[in-house]
Amino acid sequence: MHPSPLPHVRVGRYDVYLLPEGPFRMDGGAVFGFIPRPQWEQKLPPDAQNRVALGVNQLLIKGADTVVLCDTGLGTKLTPRQREVYGLAAPAPWAERLAPLGLAPTDITHVVFTHLHFDHAGGATILTDDGREIRPAFPQADHFVQAGEWEDACLPPEGETFAYQFQHFLPLYETGRLHRLRGNRHLLPGIQLHITGGHTRYHQEIRVSDEGRTVIFPGDVCPTPFHLELTWRTSYDRFPLETIAARRRLLAKGFQPEVLIAFSHDPQPTFRRLTGSPDHPEAVAWHAPA
Ligand SMILES: [Zn+2]
Repeated sequence: MHPSPLPHVRVGRYDVYLLPEGPFRMDGGAVFGFIPRPQWEQKLPPDAQNRVALGVNQLLIKGADTVVLCDTGLGTKLTPRQREVYGLAAPAPWAERLAPLGLAPTDITHVVFTHLHFDHAGGATILTDDGREIRPAFPQADHFVQAGEWEDACLPPEGETFAYQFQHFLPLYETGRLHRLRGNRHLLPGIQLHITGGHTRYHQEIRVSDEGRTVIFPGDVCPTPFHLELTWRTSYDRFPLETIAARRRLLAKGFQPEVLIAFSHDPQPTFRRLTGSPDHPEAVAWHAPA
């Protein structure tokens, strides 16, 4: 048995982990778009404020000399009031979250963002002990985001201003270790960044493939297993038709053998494999063969 209780899968040369930060509460109506409440409440029962409990999950890919963190979650900088709004427990610093893997924040070599919304970029920076300065959480890491996403985050489109918070990502610019990508990228052997659009204009997903096994981290184009059903959309997608196209590609790939999916907002964080049919897909928990 693996010594760590975190969800883990071996993908060729890499150990891949899912790091759950949540739970995180959001309005159920917004999470499930135009799906009527009687349908979604059977899957995720809402609380008295109509909020459903989602996860906030990051993917960590550990190789011999590299540690890649995909998305950084909400982080530790939110105010007590903000934490209350999203139903968040006390924040856990990265040192504590990485300790079960025998890692420290200085061990992270690469940080990749699917996009820069506050629940994906918040953990990339931390407040200094005196609370007066905001610094990168991973001082040794190169950071990767699509250039178009960076531009949209710095000058948010109408209606998107709440989702992007400058203080989470601007300090990364000053490090000189921020890489703004133009197009798909082969990050490291077996690790691909692929633009999906949909949720945001330059949203990207991350795929790890090695020795016949693949893990896909689709980010917010498919935030939970429930959203594999193409009509189940969130209200947060800027380009819903692109989101559907990205999910169709995810379904096509996900039904191939040895392909696992890790969902960014899975309320029960685990690696999943698809069963059923592309019309009625189901993502069931994957367990390592004994
Ligand atoms: Zn999100």
